Amino acid sequence: DSVKNWMKHRSRISAGKTAVIDGETGEAWSYRQLWQRVERLAGYLRNQGIAYGDRVALLSPNHICYLELLFACGQLGAIFVPLNWRLATNELNYILNDCKPSLLVVHPDSSHQAVIEAIQQGIAVFEINGQEYSHVMSDEEVSYIDSSTHHAAPLFQTNDPLAIIYTGGTTGRPKGVVLSHMSIFWNATNTIISWNLSEDEITPTYLPMFHTGGLNALSIPVLMAGGTVVIARSFDAQSVIRLLNDQACTIALMVPTMYHMLIQTKEFMETSFPMMHTFLSGGAPCPHPIYEAFAAKGVAFKEGYGATESGPNNFFIRPGDAVHKPGCVGKHMVLSQAKVVNVHGEELAVGEVGELLLAGSHLFERYWNEPAITAQAFDHGWFRTGDLAKKDADGDFYIVGRCKDMIITGGENVYPVEVETLIAGHSAVSSVAVVGLPHDKWGEIVAAAIVLHDGHLITEDELRTYCAKSIGKYKIPKTIRFVSQLPLTDVGKLDKNKIIQQFLNTMD
Ligand code: ATP
Repeated sequence: DSVKNWMKHRSRISAGKTAVIDGETGEAWSYRQLWQRVERLAGYLRNQGIAYGDRVALLSPNHICYLELLFACGQLGAIFVPLNWRLATNELNYILNDCKPSLLVVHPDSSHQAVIEAIQQGIAVFEINGQEYSHVMSDEEVSYIDSSTHHAAPLFQTNDPLAIIYTGGTTGRPKGVVLSHMSIFWNATNTIISWNLSEDEITPTYLPMFHTGGLNALSIPVLMAGGTVVIARSFDAQSVIRLLNDQACTIALMVPTMYHMLIQTKEFMETSFPMMHTFLSGGAPCPHPIYEAFAAKGVAFKEGYGATESGPNNFFIRPGDAVHKPGCVGKHMVLSQAKVVNVHGEELAVGEVGELLLAGSHLFERYWNEPAITAQAFDHGWFRTGDLAKKDADGDFYIVGRCKDMIITGGENVYPVEVETLIAGHSAVSSVAVVGLPHDKWGEIVAAAIVLHDGHLITEDELRTYCAKSIGKYKIPKTIRFVSQLPLTDVGKLDKNKIIQQFLNTMD
């Protein structure tokens, strides 16, 4: 049950095949070269005193070092902690203080006040120079030639931690999700089997690799399958199509916000995606017009659901499933289990909305330093996602929203995603967020913040009349604001806390 053993095996059977390409420079590494770098880096880290259980943190834009460090930590029994370089100093300090790394690896483009403070606190810091690493204090460069590769591998269990990935913090302070060797291995294996990945896959990393979406969702599974990962450093809607076509990419995962930008480009209008077989969307609900834009080009576009804690992959829409149902994330994957339960943990009937629970060897082990939150997160081995879902008669699942986001107005439940999906379907609407605001009489009221397409106008009354054709009166937003943009989190999800705050700030 170990990614490192599998990748070692890959470095032999796929030795000369390209494992990783730097999307900016075009530099490429074969499986043999990747593994040589991993073994030498592991040897060097070992010589620096990094041992079983130590945390090795990384602050970097997307880069091959994410893969090298993850696998090198796997060799040593150390724990890889990728960090979100977009966080503010106090947020990063919180995480560094929580995971207490023995080593912090920093890319010069991600230099940060928190790094200076880490050095002052005595944490060893390595800087990445090109494709090499050097010790910040001693100017010593990692020698890929001198480091011993013949060290005895330490003994450790497959449920020992391999990575800690901090969640987006959408619902509170970030939590360190501990993924074991086994979780990462089984997530990748499950994904390869269920999504039918082959060694012909080529995937770009448009999602940040410090999040599970950029690391575990596709990059590790594609590498384990013997395919190629193209490291894309940043998302720029205009250049995406060129990279996908130039690198002959076959499968890509992005968040809805990225697709939203992509389908409006001239490049999107003009391409037919000759090599791509599947676009995947995840991380947040995907508005149906995006699916339709891809369907019009005859390219498969599938909505997926994932959470850092669950691997992240849990569902798949079968190849050849011709009928796309809006909001549907498909069936549970071959090695996953999923059920929808009520507040008593009892499984609900088809069509009923409840909390989504997941099971499988790809689940996380625990939250770092948070035994109480960990205990609450599991129900007899099932992970309580905190998301609301329902299942249809075909066994297909739908994500309805987050438990926390559900609005209760006058005793009625309103799922923001349902209202957002409807409003996003209006031709004048570019994007929308629906939230609940506290209200003396109703408990909460439904509120919508809406961005219109350039040059389009619609009044509040027109919008309410449009909604009344499809949803009950209590679900129609009582408060509507037209805004120029919606606040997003670092991974491009609607920042609902900020949106609620903005509403409250402008109300008396
Ligand atoms: P935190 O757990 O700290 O609040 P987060 O919820 O953003 O942050 P992630 O693991 O990054 O943590 O994201 C997982 C969440 O994203 C899921 O629990 C779910 O709420 C949401 N999500 C993922 N895919 C979808 C989807 N297809 N539709 C709706 N929501 C989704």
